[in-house]
Amino acid sequence: MSASHDLPEFHLSLLGAFAPRNDVDIECPGRKEQYHLSLPFSPIFPWLGRHHTDHMFPLLDALAGICVYQSGQAYAVTMSLSGGQVNLFVAENKQVSQKVIDHLEDIWSTVVGINRAIYPHLLRRDSQTISPSGRSVDLPGTLATKVYAFSLPHLKKRLEKRWSLLQPFLLDNLSTFGQDFVVYFMVLQEALFAELPEFDMIAAAFATTNKYLVSMRFDLDDMRWNRLEREWTGKNQSLVDQWKGTSNREFAPHRCVAKLFSLHKHMLSIRQIACSRRLSAYLRTSKLKITPVAPHTCEDINVTPTSEDIQAVIRENTYPSDSNNREAMITNIMQKLTTSPYEYNGKLNAHCECTLLAYHLAHPEIPHLRYIGASRLLCFACKDFFESYNKHAHSFGQEQYYFKGMRWKLSPGWVFVRFKAGDGSVPQSVVELLERIRVDMIKDIGGWLRRHVREKVATSTIDADSDPDLSQETEALCVESFAKGAAVMA
Ligand SMILES: [Zn+2]
Repeated sequence: MSASHDLPEFHLSLLGAFAPRNDVDIECPGRKEQYHLSLPFSPIFPWLGRHHTDHMFPLLDALAGICVYQSGQAYAVTMSLSGGQVNLFVAENKQVSQKVIDHLEDIWSTVVGINRAIYPHLLRRDSQTISPSGRSVDLPGTLATKVYAFSLPHLKKRLEKRWSLLQPFLLDNLSTFGQDFVVYFMVLQEALFAELPEFDMIAAAFATTNKYLVSMRFDLDDMRWNRLEREWTGKNQSLVDQWKGTSNREFAPHRCVAKLFSLHKHMLSIRQIACSRRLSAYLRTSKLKITPVAPHTCEDINVTPTSEDIQAVIRENTYPSDSNNREAMITNIMQKLTTSPYEYNGKLNAHCECTLLAYHLAHPEIPHLRYIGASRLLCFACKDFFESYNKHAHSFGQEQYYFKGMRWKLSPGWVFVRFKAGDGSVPQSVVELLERIRVDMIKDIGGWLRRHVREKVATSTIDADSDPDLSQETEALCVESFAKGAAVMA
């Protein structure tokens, strides 16, 4: 067996050949937010108190979320509060740009401005203040317009992708959603795509439409939206097929709207901190320092599985009883695989969440909140990595980390966190912890690989040999795995 078989990347790449890259159906709705709920009180900043510590987690997700201005970007943020200084550590899947750092500084100074305006000497609660020119300035409104202006290209892209289906879907379900909601949604779409966007109008449209979503219990009711989608898709199959083309993308209107409004929620989280009375003294006296963390990189790993490797995995997970002609069945499965394994070459960057972990492992002297705010839910590989990290962290003298949630997404080119043994950049215990995680990941990915190969076996023999329960079995494994993850991180 070659050395590449000892690397999680090799097994992830193999899994990518058999499993869907994205799967909205097995995201396990309702499980995404649980890490907030199970988060223990942070002993690092006891002066914040439990209640205010909890508010810092949405803030970190929000600060990561507002950095995104183009599709495909991903940001992660950690925070350290010490000696009158707010330290923000920011990582991207590539180098963090100055544009993003400037934006975060601008937003933070607006946050401080809002707080000073609300609590001048902690006496007034008025959110309006008077500018030097004497004009009344709506600072919370300024915060919203800054957030939307920065991320406008990303917002438009999100809506553009599905608008040709979302618009008729909303109009056809007018009686269910209510006329006001649908009208305001149309106003929002028009405002976003205006030739000269007016950001105060965009902010107002987001705020109003969001109120209708809250009154509809949008966050809690994706089942209802899924049902409406199924019914609507059934009646408009040709329209949906035309939109899909040759891609395997899903319409998923609930998810589309949720993603569109995530920026609005982030803005509200930041505004909540800006309006905090308890944090007021700290906000107005502390300085913000942003540390852009360079990507943790991995070079020259040769882990691209060959077709022989793929055949070997199928062979390992099939049995003589699967088919009368096992070799023909293996060839058949090989021919039906639509995704090639990712080709690893050159220097690759770790995902931003892993980059931040690597940074903090190498800088144990920096006390920080053990929460990694992220602009998106953890991908499959990061979830697997941090699940194992949290399981073993205490045994190796480290603390656990927490996240908002995770989803099934296989990201091609994901790389493991590696430090050279004995180079002094991290203690030996960290190298040993990473070794334990490597072994765990290979074992866990192997389980998923087996399930997905078995599914291919089942669907390649649609006869008495097939096992109709395998798909349900895989879904059950997903639920079990996510529950296990929650238990480990709790
Ligand atoms: Zn990831």
